[in-house]
Amino acid sequence: MPELPEVQTVVTTLRPALLGRKIAKVMLNRADIVSPSGFDLSRHLTGQTIASIERRAKRIVFTLSGGEVFYIHLGMSGRLTICGPDEPLTPHTHLRLHFPGFEVRFSDPRRFGGIWWLGIDQQEDKLGPEPLSMRPPTLARRLARTGRAIKNALLDQSVVAGLGNIYVDESLFEAGIHPLSIARDLSDQQVNRLTRSIKTTLRQAIKSKGSTLRDYADANGQAGGFQKLHRVYNRAAKPCRRCKTPIERIVLGGRSTHFCPKCQVDGR
Ligand SMILES: [Zn+2]
Repeated sequence: MPELPEVQTVVTTLRPALLGRKIAKVMLNRADIVSPSGFDLSRHLTGQTIASIERRAKRIVFTLSGGEVFYIHLGMSGRLTICGPDEPLTPHTHLRLHFPGFEVRFSDPRRFGGIWWLGIDQQEDKLGPEPLSMRPPTLARRLARTGRAIKNALLDQSVVAGLGNIYVDESLFEAGIHPLSIARDLSDQQVNRLTRSIKTTLRQAIKSKGSTLRDYADANGQAGGFQKLHRVYNRAAKPCRRCKTPIERIVLGGRSTHFCPKCQVDGR
């Protein structure tokens, strides 16, 4: 599933192609990917120019020249791809935005993603702080409110925005914190270390253009490279890169969780 680094990479690769460009035509193949349902996307997008593209959590937020805002969420398997108008359609292409000379296509086989229209007067979102600019006391306050395992607390988008299974596992390893540690029991020192390790992990992943495990690719169709640098994620039974102990995998809240039983003892 695309997380913060992958979504940031998609934003970075969309910008040069789309900023200042006018949407010539909208082709929607599946109306149920649009929220609110029944919204006339074509009428509101056609003829508008893309003024900015930003990332908020795992959302790709577009602002139009008229000031209206909408966002695309890639869900589990969503992809935004820049391509020529004559390129053959891949299955599960739900939306095509035509620009002069090229298209942007949104495909999403598993359909957890979609497009959300916010308009001009957007409500404030209920998402937690952006991890790359988050300060330790902010995280500490949020963790102090929950008796859940730290792994589950960090996956909650209202606690921190943009993290998912990969980067939570990697950040906890980097901080030496066991994924089952109770969130509110972490010391200030542990929260400091965790805040720092989340930032380091995300920055390195952005530098490597994200992780490609199955189907993630940026807007130019390029795969990421960070999966080669994973320390624990998807490495069950392989030796820890730091201490050679086999990496363990457990299932926590329905999600697979990877950790080194020797390097991640803090909080247990
Ligand atoms: Zn280890």
